[in-house]
Amino acid sequence: MTLIPLPIARLPELARNLWWSWHPEARDLFEELERAVLDPPHHNPLSLLQGMREGELELRAKDPEFIKRYNAVVAAFDDDMAGKTTRFASRFPHLTASPVAYFSAEFGVHSALPVYAGGLGILAGDIAKEASDLGVPLVGVGFMYPQGYFRQHVSADGRQQEIYERLDRALAPTEPACTQPGQTCVVPLQLPDRLLHVAVWVVRLGRVALYLMDTDLDANAPWDRELSARLYGGDQELRLRQEIVLGIGGVRLLRALGIAPAIWHANEGHSALMMLERVRELMEAGRTFDQAVEEVRATTVFTSHTPVPAGHDAFRFSLVEKYLKHLGAYWPDLGRTRDRLLSLATHQEPSGPGFNMTALALRLSGHRNAVSRRHGEVSRRMWRPLWPSLPETEVPIASVTNGVHVPSWVAPEFDRLYRVYLSKDWIARHDDPVLWEGVEAIPDRELWEAHRALKLRLLRFLRDRARRRWSEERSALSQVVATGTLLDPEALTLGFARRFAAYKRATLILRDPARLRALLTYSRHPVQIIFAGKAHPADEPAKQLLQQVYRAALDPAYGGRIAFVEDYDMHVAYHLVQGVDVWLNTPRPPLEASGTSGQKAALNGVPNLSVLDGWWAEGYDGTNGWAIGAPEVGPEDSEARDAADAGALYQLLETEVVPLYYERDPTGLPKPWLRLMRRAIRSVAPRFSARRMVKEYVEQLYLPAWTAASTSTGTSRARSDRQ
Ligand SMILES: *Cc1c(COP(=O)(O)O)cnc(C)c1O
Repeated sequence: MTLIPLPIARLPELARNLWWSWHPEARDLFEELERAVLDPPHHNPLSLLQGMREGELELRAKDPEFIKRYNAVVAAFDDDMAGKTTRFASRFPHLTASPVAYFSAEFGVHSALPVYAGGLGILAGDIAKEASDLGVPLVGVGFMYPQGYFRQHVSADGRQQEIYERLDRALAPTEPACTQPGQTCVVPLQLPDRLLHVAVWVVRLGRVALYLMDTDLDANAPWDRELSARLYGGDQELRLRQEIVLGIGGVRLLRALGIAPAIWHANEGHSALMMLERVRELMEAGRTFDQAVEEVRATTVFTSHTPVPAGHDAFRFSLVEKYLKHLGAYWPDLGRTRDRLLSLATHQEPSGPGFNMTALALRLSGHRNAVSRRHGEVSRRMWRPLWPSLPETEVPIASVTNGVHVPSWVAPEFDRLYRVYLSKDWIARHDDPVLWEGVEAIPDRELWEAHRALKLRLLRFLRDRARRRWSEERSALSQVVATGTLLDPEALTLGFARRFAAYKRATLILRDPARLRALLTYSRHPVQIIFAGKAHPADEPAKQLLQQVYRAALDPAYGGRIAFVEDYDMHVAYHLVQGVDVWLNTPRPPLEASGTSGQKAALNGVPNLSVLDGWWAEGYDGTNGWAIGAPEVGPEDSEARDAADAGALYQLLETEVVPLYYERDPTGLPKPWLRLMRRAIRSVAPRFSARRMVKEYVEQLYLPAWTAASTSTGTSRARSDRQ
């Protein structure tokens, strides 16, 4: 590490805490330093500091203007870390004593840490950042995948290629977790024929610490070192082993670090074994099986994320048993309760009864939620067999609708507008709908200019990427076009970016090529579409959908008005949600649990054009965007539904979206469109914020669990059943 001059000695500390990434003044400080470097790293202050020459830093250390800004950032950081800037958690003083342990197989916190695949991870990251902002005591438990999720290249014939790169730990915003100074934390886990060692890394998000586990240690056999290499790679057995590390290793790492959570939150079923491990611990401490189960239920929160049946992990009983037998010294005794234990996870799978992680999590958690109202209804129907005596409406799965971490996703241009026209401290109050009435005061011209600046930045971003691929990798000329170099800043631009999964129907808008072509190439009012997204490496149908989209981007008939951006990640998402004119989403209802990218778009004045599913089913109000097709849920795999939705989409574009966008007043301003942008911002920003969401988690799930934790097991039973 470069020697850091004394006046700016805390820069490395700032760079190591991702707090900087959602505080504009801190971001500006590092951007200023980036300007001193010829080829700055990709928004990564840690590698930036390591690559800077000492002279450059000395120069800043002598610049009074820079020192002033540095001091202000350090003061704000210290205030936040000391909890001086939030009042929410102080309403619940008893909560701060022991934290919520939040388990998730992925965390999307920054593009420099590629340990997420999609919405599930981004949500986990946004929750952790918001918990820091609100002062909710939370620690994250997850996985450090040294090869992360893959980087995506698309070949000239539209085939996705997966590239795995080793994460350079020295440049990632992590450090080894220590049990005491100088003593790194390593957790041992007994597998059937060998001992597995798990290393622990800590990522700092303001006041929240994420503990990420990793098996890539010299002490492990080569195949065990590979265990945590990749997110969602490998076969069933590898996946089970990963979930053992996540769930069981996760509990043990917290114990090793001396952290005693009051509440345990499993984000999706991947970490459900965490609940079994706690049953084992309690039995070891002398509880009966039933008492242990009740105690675990009272203090456990579970969030389910998908209505897609294949999205719920299920394993063969024999496989699970092979591992569980060896995991605890206490298991031989637990053996007497073997059948009851396995029955906690039993669920009817297509191939017969199996060990289902979601069923296990639902049965061992007393506080459960889905991620939108619509998803709540679907989940209650889907999991009703677990509560056969209850009517569907009383199945105890509540819902907390997802929201996005506003400081992370708002564009600097809009932050500036909001500071002027909402309030200087708008960020501190951003879940208050009244505050957002201030959006009406933003002058048309300023609102339009802010949006245009972001659109131009997006197009430049795409061109820069295309240029790099063209000169470094000799991509084909047609690919240079397919990645967006012919896009026109004046044309109405739709954005569609999400994981490629069949139910998301990326190709819906391509269904009628002639009608699409007419829309895109109408010379007076052209339309263009920017696509992005990865297909799971093992999902061949999804890869074929991606190929269809890519071929459309290559097709001269569309005149370069369809673009595909490779390697969708948080950084690409950041540019896309801010820079397009309309955010398009066409899932097949009811399979979109929530979705959050459209919330990021609306926060930046980009209206949604979406099927009424997930969050949009409650977010759409008739004035803030468009609803595609009928709201009711049809047969899931219906050709007819696809045809109807595609027809509705074309018609909306032809008769409403395009005419509205191009309606200009004599000064060139799109007045009705600007009204729509304001409606999108006002109706979405406060309600679909992570701030509103985390407050609901605290009030509806954590507080009841905290209360249950502090009462005896007997009463906690009644309480958790009332959920
Ligand atoms: C926000 C985000 C998502 C989740 O958005 P969806 O609407 O669920 O697709 C996925 N991936 C990235 C990179 C994101 O930023």
